[in-house]
Amino acid sequence: MTYALNGKRVWVAGHRGMVGGAIVRRLASEGAVVVTVSRSEVDLKDPAAVRGWVEKTEPAAVFLAAAKVGGILANDSFPADFLYDNLMIAANIIEASHRVGVEKLLFLGSSCIYPKFAEQPIREDSLLTGSLEPTNEWYAIAKIAGIKLAQAYRKQYGADYISVMPTNLYGPGDNFDLNSSHVMPALIRKAHEAKLRGDKAVTVWGTGTPRREFLHVDDCADACVHLMKNYSDFEHVNVGSGDDVTILELTQMVCDVVGFKGEIVHDLTKPDGTPRKLMSADKIRGLGWKPSIKLKDGLASTYDWLKAHGV
Ligand code: GDP
Repeated sequence: MTYALNGKRVWVAGHRGMVGGAIVRRLASEGAVVVTVSRSEVDLKDPAAVRGWVEKTEPAAVFLAAAKVGGILANDSFPADFLYDNLMIAANIIEASHRVGVEKLLFLGSSCIYPKFAEQPIREDSLLTGSLEPTNEWYAIAKIAGIKLAQAYRKQYGADYISVMPTNLYGPGDNFDLNSSHVMPALIRKAHEAKLRGDKAVTVWGTGTPRREFLHVDDCADACVHLMKNYSDFEHVNVGSGDDVTILELTQMVCDVVGFKGEIVHDLTKPDGTPRKLMSADKIRGLGWKPSIKLKDGLASTYDWLKAHGV
């Protein structure tokens, strides 16, 4: 049974973020009436404000893409913000959606919910089978709570709430701030600026040996819409590309795309984080979805976006 979005009022919470923005773009071809609200109008950490907005707008469906996000250093430096903000955002939106009878809700999490040493590729059922990676456990706990909230409302009230766990995402609208960004935008910016300055080297954090999987945000948005329409069950679904690369391989690809010909050096005072984070794509493939943007092409278009928009 397909959940049709055509003609439905759909709230994309977090539309100013990279993922929310991509979902809004993707919904343009679904015939949905997209509603959004700015941070200055509604603080998503405030239960009454969220409840008031949802009662006023009465969405039929909700994409819960709002979150406080950041890379390895930001997560490690602001644990209270990453835990509190994300718990409040998820709880407020899920509870308000239930109160007004939202028909379907999709909660977005992250691959960091899985145990640090989970068997690779990481299957959905490895959730809560081991300890988390300490650099991002605060964010991970909030995202696990979000999955559990969606499941609890399904179990207690029969609410059709689902959860999606994307891998490391990148693309237009990413955060290119070197202190808070993820690795991909950081490397694109560093290589670009090193090329402009004529530097001899670009610096990579850590050993370069950790392996990460990357997915273009437009592929992620496409998967979210696919699941909103075609998936209705208890367990969360991984959304990834199915392939991973080492941070060093990624750096070499970025330098090629940017045209930086200097050396790559390592800053070993910065953390490596979890050694490998490749998610199993079996479940989502079985649900009839696969990505269409190759890493090299996505990287090139993201670099074009950076040159056109600046950091
Ligand atoms: P993670 O996937 O949660 O570990 O988050 P990140 O995307 O921030 O980091 C992924 C990996 O890339 C880690 O091993 C980092 O040490 C490494 N890395 C290398 N250079 C950078 C950089 O300039 N910024 C970031 N954020 N990570 C980097």
